[in-house]
Amino acid sequence: MTQSVMLPNPTLREPARRLPTRSGQRYFIRTFGCQMNEHDSERIAGLFEIDGMSRADGFESADVVYINTCTIRENADNRMYGNLGQLKAIKDLNPEMVLVVGGCAAQKDRDMIRERAPWVDVVMGTHNLDRVLDLMDHAESWGPITEVVDELQAMPSSLPVRRELEHSAWVTIQVGCNNTCTFCIVPSVRGVEVSRRPGDIVREVERLAADGVVEVTLLGQNVDTYGRDLALDGRRRPIFGELLRRVGEVEGIRRVRFTSPHPNDFKDDVARAMAETDAVCEQLHFPLQSGSDRVLAAMHRGYNRRKYLDRLQMAREIIPGLAVSTDVIVGFPGETEEDFELTLEVVEEARFDSAFMFIFSPRPGTAAAKLTSDFVPEEAIRDRFARLAELQNRVSGEKNAELLGATVEVLSEGPSRKNETVATTRTRTGKVVHVGGAHRAGAFFDVKVEEAHQHHLVGSRV
Ligand code: SF4
Repeated sequence: MTQSVMLPNPTLREPARRLPTRSGQRYFIRTFGCQMNEHDSERIAGLFEIDGMSRADGFESADVVYINTCTIRENADNRMYGNLGQLKAIKDLNPEMVLVVGGCAAQKDRDMIRERAPWVDVVMGTHNLDRVLDLMDHAESWGPITEVVDELQAMPSSLPVRRELEHSAWVTIQVGCNNTCTFCIVPSVRGVEVSRRPGDIVREVERLAADGVVEVTLLGQNVDTYGRDLALDGRRRPIFGELLRRVGEVEGIRRVRFTSPHPNDFKDDVARAMAETDAVCEQLHFPLQSGSDRVLAAMHRGYNRRKYLDRLQMAREIIPGLAVSTDVIVGFPGETEEDFELTLEVVEEARFDSAFMFIFSPRPGTAAAKLTSDFVPEEAIRDRFARLAELQNRVSGEKNAELLGATVEVLSEGPSRKNETVATTRTRTGKVVHVGGAHRAGAFFDVKVEEAHQHHLVGSRV
């Protein structure tokens, strides 16, 4: 029997405590999508480990499989259904295995997942992560269950965690988004903006520092508006700059990063907090999306190209050595060749260190997906994408070449996945530097940059 539950409780709850009931069992988590999902998966892993489980190497050896889904792009949806098909065969051989599907696609398409993959035991949303163990227990006793709620029930960061990197941690400061970007599904799957109280955040960062964490990344959909839904000192206002300063003062935390700011809400108080707080890194992700005012308006981004470039210049003037990355969407409905050339112009002028470039993907449930008569022909999109990638790769290579011969401080992430004799490290500006030798994850040291490539640097320890 499939049950669908809608919980009415709008207040955030503390995770329930329970004694381990799954000791000896093994779990495997597959995560699609953004850092918010990576962070949620770490929390799900934390809950599984508190319940006595340990990590499995893959689907086949797992007693519990959790698929954390994403719905931002069609590709992620397809891969998710591909995984569910593969899991059907595994579950036929091992019917005791508990299969859970969570995340944004589950929040949005719960009924479709049930219909296309009836062998899934639990379908749950993005707002009730803390319920995963109870839902699994329920499914084992009573059969498949769907529990998707519309309001946030527990802030993910209040849950136990099993971090991928011991020295580095994500900290949720805000969930949801009040904007209405016409290409984006996030507001309908993650809900309205809810900020976590600053004292809770600082306490968590202090606990992390005591645990040996040296780098934190603050996570929110639109961090610049952080705090405007909280009544602090009797006022509601964005206080992200103040939060950065407080987090940056926590002893032991040497690097603070954040994602994502919004060009429309990014103001000089945040830039000043970045410049004046030693631990806050000189790195800004500043999503452009398009360089055409007409397309930006159709996307509901709230800024035009002039405002974007002015804010970028303001950030660079205030923060010395700032590295900037961006997002660009190619082929938004109605984008003409002229619009696209305006995007190329801004990309050339802005000189981003790196860019995430996407082909427009219509997501059911978004306003842009309905503009079918304006969809750009595939051939034109492919051509534009190749021209944009060529330009940005050249600029990325030139920006990296500016570092040749420089000595920079890096933080090691441990051996590179492709070559164990090389460590993958990162500069404060977020650039990857490959360094020969074994350098334990979490170690800081200086390197001299000897090679510059489009997407990484090579250096040696000094
Ligand atoms: S700011 Fe726009 S793109 Fe970012 S999460 Fe909100 S609606 Fe989506």
